[in-house]
Amino acid sequence: MKHIAVLTSGGDAPGMNACIRAVVRTAGLNNLEVSGVYRGYQGLIEDDLIPVTREHVRNTIHRGGTWLKTARSEEFRTPEGRQRAIATLRSRGIDGLVVIGGDGSFRGATALSQEMDLPVIGCPGTIDNDLFGTDLTIGYDTAVNTAVEAVDRIRDTAASHNRLFFVEVMGRDAGFIALRTGIAAGAEAVLIPETTTYIDELVVKLESDWKERRRSGIIVVAEGDDGGGAMEVARKVQERFPQWESKVTVLGHIQRGGRPSAQDRILASRMGHAAVLGLLAGQSRVMVGVQAGQIVYVPFEQATKHHQQINPYLLELVEALG
Ligand code: ADP
Repeated sequence: MKHIAVLTSGGDAPGMNACIRAVVRTAGLNNLEVSGVYRGYQGLIEDDLIPVTREHVRNTIHRGGTWLKTARSEEFRTPEGRQRAIATLRSRGIDGLVVIGGDGSFRGATALSQEMDLPVIGCPGTIDNDLFGTDLTIGYDTAVNTAVEAVDRIRDTAASHNRLFFVEVMGRDAGFIALRTGIAAGAEAVLIPETTTYIDELVVKLESDWKERRRSGIIVVAEGDDGGGAMEVARKVQERFPQWESKVTVLGHIQRGGRPSAQDRILASRMGHAAVLGLLAGQSRVMVGVQAGQIVYVPFEQATKHHQQINPYLLELVEALG
């Protein structure tokens, strides 16, 4: 192996820059040439690559987003699109690829490596933490910290005005951000897609809180919750419980941006480093993960087929303390 490429794909996540940096620096130490691909798979299709050296990644570890840019590519989903990507990889003499992205990106990487004999390793970059086979994904810790900080601010105004706030956090299919945010911010309840939301139960809890003279509260709602998102849940609760003024805040994309936390920078650095060492050791079609603090290599097939499970203990904790 002499020349590898690195790209970021799918949704951006804080810490992706730290991961790119680790890939580039580890490759340099092992005398590998590196090409950076702009805009994920779309950049591979359009031959939008540049040679990357250690200077390119200087002063990037602390920056959110990804300087290589990211994209979603419909064309790459087609065999014709992937053939164009393969033509780029061949013409550039690339013999290994590191993909930093989520499960969709790893499905794409699997398809590519089946159509071209190319070793590919993934680093899990997604704020959702929903990838099977790793305890943590790059960007998750930062996103949770951002959400917690926002909820802390909302709590101040909720308490001052005697209001019940429904705060919607990211997580279309997964409640990890909501659950951790809820625990860390001391939410009264957390509503997530993995469990059925019963408005009746929530109202009973709020009524008992009200009787105990609680006059402000925070309910954290994952955007993909089956109750219909924060707006809808708030509307249903307000109908049944008009004496308590409700407000809704949707945190949205602020959870994706910002400086990566120290934990995400370290995780991303470890994973980028392990990705290059994995390629050099002959690994392919695997995702770098961490399990109980140790680096592991998890086959793409497993990482994309299974769903990361919510820890039931954390759900109990929210209920017990909220
Ligand atoms: P994420 O990686 O964050 O889950 P997406 O699901 O949008 O984000 O996937 C990123 C890109 O990966 C897609 O835009 C597409 O180009 C590629 N991709 C996803 N699924 C497949 C697939 N089954 N086959 C080929 N390419 C795929």
